[in-house]
Amino acid sequence: MRAQAPKEVDVRSFRRRLLRWFDREQRVLPWRGEKDPYRILVSEIMLQQTRVAVVGQRYGRFLKQFPTVATLARAREQTVLAAWSGLGYYRRARALHAAAKAIQQRRAFPASAKELQELPGVGRYTAAAVASIAYGEPAAVVDGNVKRVLQRLRGRNLRDEECWAEAERLLASDRPGDFNQAMMELGAVVCVPARPNCSECPVTSMCIAQGKDHAQKPQQRRKEILNLSLRRRNGSIFLKQRAWDSSVMPSMWELPTLHARPAEKPAIQLRHSIINTDYQVNVFANGAPSLQQGRWIELRSARRLPLTGLARKILLRLELLSSR
Ligand code: SF4
Repeated sequence: MRAQAPKEVDVRSFRRRLLRWFDREQRVLPWRGEKDPYRILVSEIMLQQTRVAVVGQRYGRFLKQFPTVATLARAREQTVLAAWSGLGYYRRARALHAAAKAIQQRRAFPASAKELQELPGVGRYTAAAVASIAYGEPAAVVDGNVKRVLQRLRGRNLRDEECWAEAERLLASDRPGDFNQAMMELGAVVCVPARPNCSECPVTSMCIAQGKDHAQKPQQRRKEILNLSLRRRNGSIFLKQRAWDSSVMPSMWELPTLHARPAEKPAIQLRHSIINTDYQVNVFANGAPSLQQGRWIELRSARRLPLTGLARKILLRLELLSSR
């Protein structure tokens, strides 16, 4: 029988099957069942780019050394980096340390995904994972595993925003933390990249791909318009740093995005291609980015920052950076 597209299936049935499978099959891991937001934050940051087996060995030891957010915030950076040894990608340790200090300054752990995202280095994925698992907030997560599952369920490639929308639509709001972990677990142990084990999958009858690797199909190039803000003041420029857990260009600096195109004419226009998308880029000199964290940075310092390729291209085009 042909699989139904997920938009036609009973979403409640999808949630029920997935959660029943998770209750029965989930791996025993040191952070399972944890409700302390600090300990969940530590596990989520460790798990971003390190294998579960390695994190399993280091998680308990790290928490023994830094049992609370206060102990981590008080620690010297060198001590935190030493404790992170073996996990790799040390910028995550620096981000976690900075987040602990910010939490101490606030005098309270952020109480929602929105507040968590205000912490340095915490992006949408990490904020939603912590808030859903610790507080039961109905915030869906999309990481590499979840994205692969969603794309196979739908039988086609999905843009990031489509993935987030689909994850939110499927989310079981009565058990959001378990549901998010179940989606990630499914991608990690059943719906694996090379050979998904569809015969063990709890939602096979609702999946369009059913093991046929749609990712092998040639991808169509997408066309998008990007409106960016270029603000200058006394030899400085306003730049924004991408979250460390961004799937693309983590921690790099870029010009802030404008959510609406201003009425004025762009200062410059250019084309830029990333992966399978061709962007028409409009840069506005007076457009003020709303609600975006960023910093004024002296132009002579900007050239030493890890800029995105597009930011570097724009600054070179405007002769604000030297090519050397
Ligand atoms: Fe993945 Fe197969 Fe399950 Fe579809 S049926 S979600 S491809 S494991």
